[in-house]
Amino acid sequence: MLHNDQLDAWDRENFFHPSTHLAQHARGESPTRVIRTASGVHIEDRDGHKLLDAFAGLYCVNAGYGRPEIADAIADQARELAYYHSYVGHGTEASITLAKMILDRAPANMSKVYFGLGGSDANETNVKLLWYYNNILGRPEKKKIISRWRGYHGSGLVTGSLTGLELFHKKFDLPLAQVIHTEAPYYFRRDDLDQSEADFVAHCVAELEALIDREGAGTIAGFIGEPVLGTGGIVPPPEGYWAAIQAVLKKHDILLIADEVVTGFGRLGTMFGSDHYGMTPDIITIAKGLTSAYAPLSGSIVSDRVWKVLEQGTDENGPIGHGWTYSAHPIGAAAGVANLKLIDDLNLIENAGKVGKYLQQGMKDALSDHAHVGDIRGEGMLCAVEFVEDKDSRNFFDAADKIGPQISAKLLEQSKVIARAMPQGDILGFAPPFCLTRDEADTVVAATLRAVTSVL
Ligand code: PLP
Repeated sequence: MLHNDQLDAWDRENFFHPSTHLAQHARGESPTRVIRTASGVHIEDRDGHKLLDAFAGLYCVNAGYGRPEIADAIADQARELAYYHSYVGHGTEASITLAKMILDRAPANMSKVYFGLGGSDANETNVKLLWYYNNILGRPEKKKIISRWRGYHGSGLVTGSLTGLELFHKKFDLPLAQVIHTEAPYYFRRDDLDQSEADFVAHCVAELEALIDREGAGTIAGFIGEPVLGTGGIVPPPEGYWAAIQAVLKKHDILLIADEVVTGFGRLGTMFGSDHYGMTPDIITIAKGLTSAYAPLSGSIVSDRVWKVLEQGTDENGPIGHGWTYSAHPIGAAAGVANLKLIDDLNLIENAGKVGKYLQQGMKDALSDHAHVGDIRGEGMLCAVEFVEDKDSRNFFDAADKIGPQISAKLLEQSKVIARAMPQGDILGFAPPFCLTRDEADTVVAATLRAVTSVL
């Protein structure tokens, strides 16, 4: 095993970490965190510290760590057939079985799954499919995609543009011109504090209508949204939001992409967020929870309506010119099959719904009265605590104070609990594995109360 000093030096000298302050890290001002092993909801670092991971990695290890059922499926697949591609009709038993398992669980209007590797490439696929769709239908000018401010859809050129967070645009010349943004359904951050939830939904709808009017419905192919805003702050939509937005999209023949990278396969206590909010998307993006991150795999589930046009397109133009070497990678597919089976066998979605509710209630009981806790919200196994400088006026802290990062650091230092300081605003996010117990939820709540009262 490598010595700590050696690992630190090699890390700083060689490793380009994503989403990291590169200069500080290279100077050794931010720590090298080396995780060695994990089980259930706990991870263990190189010094033997056991940490309760209340964010399931990057809200992806839904089934929990150290599951032999998934590890064995991966090992068996690697021994039997580590790789074969899925171009021109090739497949493996694992990829064909997984496609069937996904469609068995997906909303009724869905038709086929295209497999990728991660959420970003799946959303790149989705945008290309909508462009192809409109070209086949003879309306080549209908191409723009509407996304929401604070949405997160990946870090590629198109997907980084869809993402509505400044950090992911700054100095990268994004967003690209084909992407336009509209209001986030973030009731707590509404401009007019006297506005009711229903009026706020009407305001979001009016903003969307105005954007469509300005750009012209004939130029807009799609609208992408996460059922619950994730990285933008863990924000469930206000009542009636999705029904109202979908009515507008339908009127203008704008297709809906539900980005279920976080919400898919049970995080809200239902199989899909689309089920939870009565959405009928034309494409659903899946990744993270598909394999519980035991291997990289993503997918684009396309509806009957989209599929029929894609078929027509290939009759007219030949094979579809879109594919990755690792589309439907057998090891990812084997992990997905084992993971979805395990989630069913252990009733983990039901547990996510029940213990998630318990966690959120625990946070409310412990923290609602705190002078600097402005909002506690969530859905299923997703929960957020948002901090304010002043509760009555809902004034926020100065971003430079970094209250969210300070609290998450304190939580780790005092109690060895990992929560995520969300990237924009002072928001502490929780998204534990679905196997979290009530006792573990109590630990997370008590630790959070202690950290909050230490910092504020
Ligand atoms: N979409 C959503 C909703 C996400 O939360 C993420 C990642 O967090 C992505 C897409 C991008 O996925 P990936 O990081 O696997 O490319």
